[in-house]
Amino acid sequence: MTSVITEPLGCSDAPILKERGQREVFCGLTGIVWLHRKMQDAFFLVVGSRTCAHLLQSAAGVMIFAEPRFGTAIMEEKDLAGLADANEELDREVDRLLARRPDIKQLFLVGSCPSEVIKLDLSRAAERLTDRHGPHVQVVNYSGSGIETTFTQGEDACLAALVPTLGVTADKQLMLVGSLPDVVEDQFVRLFKAMGIEAVRSFPATERGLAPKVGPGTKVLLAQPFLGDAAAALAARDADILSAPFPFGADGTAAWISIGARAMGVPQARIDAVLETPHRRASNAVAKVAQNLRGKTVFLFPDSQLEIPLARFLARECGMIPIEVGSPYIHGSLVADDLALLPKGPLISEGQDVDRQLDRARDARPDLTVCGLGLANPLEAEGLTTKWAIELVFSPIHGFEQAADLAELFARPIRRRAMIDSMHPARVTA
Ligand code: SF4
Repeated sequence: MTSVITEPLGCSDAPILKERGQREVFCGLTGIVWLHRKMQDAFFLVVGSRTCAHLLQSAAGVMIFAEPRFGTAIMEEKDLAGLADANEELDREVDRLLARRPDIKQLFLVGSCPSEVIKLDLSRAAERLTDRHGPHVQVVNYSGSGIETTFTQGEDACLAALVPTLGVTADKQLMLVGSLPDVVEDQFVRLFKAMGIEAVRSFPATERGLAPKVGPGTKVLLAQPFLGDAAAALAARDADILSAPFPFGADGTAAWISIGARAMGVPQARIDAVLETPHRRASNAVAKVAQNLRGKTVFLFPDSQLEIPLARFLARECGMIPIEVGSPYIHGSLVADDLALLPKGPLISEGQDVDRQLDRARDARPDLTVCGLGLANPLEAEGLTTKWAIELVFSPIHGFEQAADLAELFARPIRRRAMIDSMHPARVTA
């Protein structure tokens, strides 16, 4: 891994509090919500229970007029008790699905807690079904189970499973890894092209036929800090994983793009010339929103693994004071640059023991608490101001154009609380 960050300060050497206890996070199936929007000829078939089906339907909503591109092969009690051949039933379901949906070119068999508990071998099933339905359909498996994982690991597992299917190239190219909304990806590609980099590839691609190739000339720029397994799989295919702060906020985006461009041999003067205007515009837009954030304390519960880069953005560009920055897992090498840029001070924690962490938040009484849905309402009832962490995953937050919107996501609950307090002054002193 190569890095060009030369500012060794901040939280690089901060001790990390590691906790293992009760956790409050979604499971990896949640990633299907954004993955199916990105990969437009893919279908995600969860091999799971009715609980899994309910989770997916409530997270993604039900599309009445469109043909959905995800579903659940529901395992009944007889499957779980080993009284039926789950493989035969799965093959039948897949046959039926693919006969009805010739538009499907990639089929993901997504493992769940129940399929893992009965040790249903989905990798063998994927091989068998690829033999049966290939080359028209490529069948790949990964796990979205909630056993010992957090929800963003679903995308990591999906991309890591796709890496072996990528072709080989020795060409020099820049690969953007992570399923960004199309509008955000287009902004990045435009900026790289303005610097003269034509060979910009996206992984995952919108269609199977557009999947990038990989090899020793590939420079990988990760768009998300939770793609540790995907990065390892790409490194094993001889790609160079670039180390960079993640593209949140004006400065984070400028650093991320610069590192990618420098790795592709673009001179700094040309990078600066292309980035100058959008960087300045984004900084000004963030500064306006940051008026509501400056000097306020923030406590981030572990949720999406975006916490360290977001804390860096909130501290450096919005003037907030992080008290605790919790992350379900810390991929040390991936967030090294963000940790270096995060000003000293906050407690960095990994994993969760939710009761102990809630006690710390109650003691600290931060101005803003970023946490999962299950914790937000009780904390609001206790008078804390909260931000739902899941919104940060479902909203476009990367890049220059989105930098002020990202700051606004944190500013809105603080403004709302100020309004409520002004209407009910008694609450302030309660
Ligand atoms: S995969 Fe596990 S945690 Fe996720 S919905 Fe299914 S049973 Fe629940």
